[in-house]
Amino acid sequence: MARVVNTSLLQKIKKHGAGSSLDVSACFQCGNCTAVCPLAEDSGGFPRRMIRMAQVDMEQELLASEELWRCYACGECTQTCPRQADPAAFMAAARSYAISRYDFTGLAALANRSIVGNLLVFAMFSAVFSALLLSRMHTGGPDLPLFHFLPGEWIHSIGVALFAVVGLSAFFGVASMTWRFWQQRRSEGVALNLGALPAAIYSAAADALLHRRFQQCAAESGADARAAQPWYQQPWLIHASVMGGFLAMLVATTLDFLFKPIGSVVPPWYPTRILGAAGGLVCLYGLTFVLLRRKQGKEHPYQRSSFADWFFPVLLTVTVLTGLFCEVVVYLPSPTALGHIVFFAHVVLAMDLVALLPLTKFAHVLYRTLALALFAWRHAPAKVAASVHAEA
Ligand code: SF4
Ligand code: SF4
Repeated sequence: MARVVNTSLLQKIKKHGAGSSLDVSACFQCGNCTAVCPLAEDSGGFPRRMIRMAQVDMEQELLASEELWRCYACGECTQTCPRQADPAAFMAAARSYAISRYDFTGLAALANRSIVGNLLVFAMFSAVFSALLLSRMHTGGPDLPLFHFLPGEWIHSIGVALFAVVGLSAFFGVASMTWRFWQQRRSEGVALNLGALPAAIYSAAADALLHRRFQQCAAESGADARAAQPWYQQPWLIHASVMGGFLAMLVATTLDFLFKPIGSVVPPWYPTRILGAAGGLVCLYGLTFVLLRRKQGKEHPYQRSSFADWFFPVLLTVTVLTGLFCEVVVYLPSPTALGHIVFFAHVVLAMDLVALLPLTKFAHVLYRTLALALFAWRHAPAKVAASVHAEA
């Protein structure tokens, strides 16, 4: 079968990489990276095969590969590469490229290719949300309660519309990746057992929530410095803190949306209030280590940080800090002008975060979980009666 060759795939991926440090064209397929990768055991040829796909313009195969998302950026492969091809940076750049290709709006491509594009998309969302909030903002002085200053009903309405649009965008992205995976496996003659899908989804959800693969990476990698770190500083726990804290805040916000009377102020011991504040503190714990390690730049995956590597944790940190500040201000008898400004900034930043979810590095929350499910599904014992071939 004739293949449509995209001769610029490697160049396109490099535009999503960490500047000039990404020189995967130097790779001569020695296989060292595969030998040391903690995840290569159950996925032969990983990550070398991904690099090969980029070198020979196998775009469809690369975008259909769930393996791209299983990498946890531990950096073991980069440390052992004799050609300084930086395979870990390649994997990160390829994931960024994939996010852009799964997105149908074109905004992800704009945001992920350059710092200017990233800031442009962020500024665009910020301007839209600010304009919407300003249109209903009340200027009754610094004593105005927060949800009168910005009417709770208006924040609620914008939030509902935002979640609907982002949900749709995320759905199309996930559908795009799943469709490519499905087509590719069919073309390879891989029998997918539909009956194994629920178990694969369960396994992926457990993997993602418990960070089992991440822990496996940490346990099997030969990084002495990381192994010597106390348990509360282990990379997987730091990542779990950021993700778990963020999910707790998201759940608290969603429950508030669904069950709390709009714009009402609940007591500090209200369950969603406790869940949100605890999630914020846990998230902040993880973010502190992420930012410190990026600043120090001593160990993988923090040695070389692109703008996108900084952007998401900084945005999340500022959002959490302003949110925790508002948690206090909301109970003050007089919020003060500073309270109003911080509240305004927090609402805009929180909306920015949600809007950017399917478009930026943040999207790995979606695609990695999906990839884990697709990987488990692909490697489930085949029951040919329910395979895609039986359906074709
Ligand atoms: S170790 Fe380096 S040169 Fe060898 S296959 Fe991996 S990326 Fe290529
Ligand atoms: S960064 Fe780690 S998990 Fe990812 S490909 Fe390299 S060795 Fe494997």
